Amino acid sequence: MEPIIGPEELKQAQAFHGNVCLGLPLGLRVGGEALRALGVARSADKELTAIAEVAPEQFSHCFLDGVQWITGCTIGNGNLQLAPLGKFALTLVQMESRRAVRVAFRAEFLEEFLRWPPVAAKAEGHRDYRPEPEEVPQQIEDILRRPMHEIVSIREIGDYSVALPKMDWTHRVCADCGELVIGGYTRELGGDALCPACLARRAHAGTTESGVVRP
Ligand SMILES: [Zn+2]
Ligand SMILES: [Zn+2]
Repeated sequence: MEPIIGPEELKQAQAFHGNVCLGLPLGLRVGGEALRALGVARSADKELTAIAEVAPEQFSHCFLDGVQWITGCTIGNGNLQLAPLGKFALTLVQMESRRAVRVAFRAEFLEEFLRWPPVAAKAEGHRDYRPEPEEVPQQIEDILRRPMHEIVSIREIGDYSVALPKMDWTHRVCADCGELVIGGYTRELGGDALCPACLARRAHAGTTESGVVRP
């Protein structure tokens, strides 16, 4: 079977991400397998939504950039959602048909990944570890090319409903800082429209001086 991405695309993904690491290809592989299983192309607009289960403190968090690059589902586009469960897994949804697939790395593969010297050195805090020149590129190739069923499991989900936030086009101008704030984030205090930061500042000033929030 064709690899998920070729050498030129890998370079582009690495340029987008900013470094050559082993977390990025994890995301590329999972995202690429999800696209392949759904039989769809990279999302150009809002055709797809991705739900990634990686958590902010999770090792190899670079995974997320691989997912964004290959699926076209990005934080900025509003079609990447984070469901931080501490897993290297992704659900990809085709919005029109509501067909979805969840792709997750197999535990055995991830445990092997954690034993790879560059990863193990990082986990143990050996900052001076220098991999052999070919070591990291070979491991990237392995992540991208190893037979699919050996490293990931794929589950199809028939009818997946994605909750999307409703866009808020209303606004107020904050009475204290003068910045524009969208309506849903505006708070009223003593007849003033305030942004959440200025509301907190007033409440803090009020309680420290007199123990009550001044109107
Ligand atoms: Zn990285
Ligand atoms: Zn303000």
